[in-house]
Amino acid sequence: MIVDREPGHDALARAAELLRRAVRRRQPVAALTGAGISAESGVPTFRGSGGLWHGFRPEELATPAAFARDPQRVWEWYHWRRGLVLAAEPNPGHRALAVLEERLQDAFTLITQNVDGLHQRAGSRRVVELHGNLLEARCTRCGRVEPLAPEASGIPNCPACGAMQRPNVVWFGEPLPGAAWARARQAAATASVFLVIGTSAVVYPAAGLVEVAAAAGAGVIEINPEETPVSDLADSVLRQPAGEALPALLREAGIVPG
Ligand SMILES: [Zn+2]
Repeated sequence: MIVDREPGHDALARAAELLRRAVRRRQPVAALTGAGISAESGVPTFRGSGGLWHGFRPEELATPAAFARDPQRVWEWYHWRRGLVLAAEPNPGHRALAVLEERLQDAFTLITQNVDGLHQRAGSRRVVELHGNLLEARCTRCGRVEPLAPEASGIPNCPACGAMQRPNVVWFGEPLPGAAWARARQAAATASVFLVIGTSAVVYPAAGLVEVAAAAGAGVIEINPEETPVSDLADSVLRQPAGEALPALLREAGIVPG
């Protein structure tokens, strides 16, 4: 395989050729997205960023221990974050991935580390959420998952059993949801093209998906303004924001009109 890690038009042409070939042959394509694509919509990144809220670091709020100690405070943080997310809009990068799903149908799998629901609002229907969704609550007793009303406040209770609900997200120290992880791993292992978009790819085990895809022979396309630990695994690297690179890639691959 010809490896083209140089930025610029050659990288775009190379990425487009990989994608065009997969679409023509109806081969599976998968994408993994991270905080970068949401940051382009104005959603602050918290994981590892050190962003403070009322003097607390995310590591002091997004843990089972923090919730056990002070569920009210943890919920307040999530209600605040939910407000930020609801005020944000999907960007052209989110919309391009929805177009790709529409075109490829079952042959496309979108895996995200984001918890903001922006992919769904852009039109993506089958989203594998590795870290949950902060627009949902989960019962601490029966496990039932419910959407949160936009105006929800305080500590919500389960409509089924009345027990306290928690944000339906994966906290530090918790395992990824098993079903989502199995789907993501399967998609990575069978993809002919694997897109890595706006993720620093340092959060394991999610980062391992890129290694799985590359080892299985997928053409790996990285879209990220910054170099990352998986850049060396990529066949094509687009050093641009997703909102610019993805629409350009779809045009170049002939998936949308140029
Ligand atoms: Zn319940």
